[in-house]
Amino acid sequence: MFDKILIANRGEIAMRVIRACKELGILTVAVHSTADADAMHVRFADESVCIGPPAAKDSYLNVPAILSACEITGADAVHPGYGFLSENARFAEILAEHDVQFIGPKAEHIRLMGDKIEAKRTAQKLGIPVVPGSDGGVTSDVEAGKVADSIGYPVLIKAAAGGGGRGMKVVHSAAELSVALATARAEAKAAFGDDAVYLEKYLEKPRHIEIQVLGDGKGKAIHLGERDCSLQRRHQKVLEESPSPALNTQARDLIGETVAKAMREIGYLGVGTVEFLYEDGKFYFIEMNTRIQVEHPVTEMITDIDLIFEQIRAAAGNDFTLKQSDIKFDGHAIECRINAENPVSFRPSPGKILHYHAPGGLGVRIDSAVYQGYTIPPYYDSLVGKLIVHGKTRTEALMRLKRALDEVVLDGIETTLPLFRALVREKDIIDGNYHIHWLEQFLARGGMES
Ligand code: ADP
Repeated sequence: MFDKILIANRGEIAMRVIRACKELGILTVAVHSTADADAMHVRFADESVCIGPPAAKDSYLNVPAILSACEITGADAVHPGYGFLSENARFAEILAEHDVQFIGPKAEHIRLMGDKIEAKRTAQKLGIPVVPGSDGGVTSDVEAGKVADSIGYPVLIKAAAGGGGRGMKVVHSAAELSVALATARAEAKAAFGDDAVYLEKYLEKPRHIEIQVLGDGKGKAIHLGERDCSLQRRHQKVLEESPSPALNTQARDLIGETVAKAMREIGYLGVGTVEFLYEDGKFYFIEMNTRIQVEHPVTEMITDIDLIFEQIRAAAGNDFTLKQSDIKFDGHAIECRINAENPVSFRPSPGKILHYHAPGGLGVRIDSAVYQGYTIPPYYDSLVGKLIVHGKTRTEALMRLKRALDEVVLDGIETTLPLFRALVREKDIIDGNYHIHWLEQFLARGGMES
């Protein structure tokens, strides 16, 4: 096992990793930008190193500074959290060249899944169903036109290097295709430095359902069920739950085993998420994330498995002790992503937290890195914290969420808490009857203004 882990991240996920390390008896090193000197992860880690100025490219993405921090502190492993360097294959290789273990999958798998065209091709080869679309990238308008005609409009143009819900364009008819392709290519080039794009059938009312996997890198892999992340705004997840209100045990076991088998075949190491759209009882692969995800706590709450702990154990080369039959799904969990944003316009609202009171009681979990008097800096993403509830049934979890949301006090900044307080009172949410476009439709009809 590792003696000392450096956490190359900030905010709630840095705190989450520190908590797991403390329970494992592993020392921790926090790194931080000058803007984060007062951040909670810096206070809770055993040691801390300042790695640069506020801009992420000069600090949390600054590989030489992070390497120096490993050397100065003698850290023998790095946990990248999510975002920042977590899906950077080269970073994993550079760490290995310096005898520091990257806590994540093998560099080859990060690279493979980072290219969404290659990822889709691999998924298909491994027997995972994919969204109908182009076979690889589309290079000419004529080729794109043929693919679009064969799968039928609307189609979605996606960037091979896309991520974070960016780089997608819906095309409704052949007349719009060529302009949309040119725009998508230019945007992909500007955002990701790669103009490769591909086409997919645009699904009208799917749910986003993803499967959590865990592998030992030596050919053993299991799944930990699904998360339903259909409540999204601009392709970004807002609320997640597990189990999905749309799946039964048979459907879960089938897709879970298909994915776990694929992971065994490639010798996947650590935690990962295989993402699907689900429509009319069918799954369609969209991508794989080769890291821990923001919404991992809902899986932890219903399986009682600490995913960070398992991720660290796997990276340290420990033998796999879990079997698929050990995984039991108990009750229902829901997570709300509380952002420092105006709940109607979603404009970021950084600033000082004047009053803070966290909810508590049975089945309530807060993963956050804020405290009363803390000033949220304007440089990073606007996630303030996650409120996760667990209940024996979905109804119990929803009632618990409602009362926990009413207990939170977070004054001084604007947050998305009012959005969740409204959502838990919506019939479709109570019934579990929603798809990936539901939230945008709710907002468009003024759901938050009434
Ligand atoms: P990213 O890597 O940017 O997160 P994904 O491929 O994971 O991109 O897609 C993000 C979201 O975009 C999905 O959860 C879904 O809401 C929407 N989306 C992706 N592909 C399709 C599709 N073929 N049809 C409809 N919506 C889609």
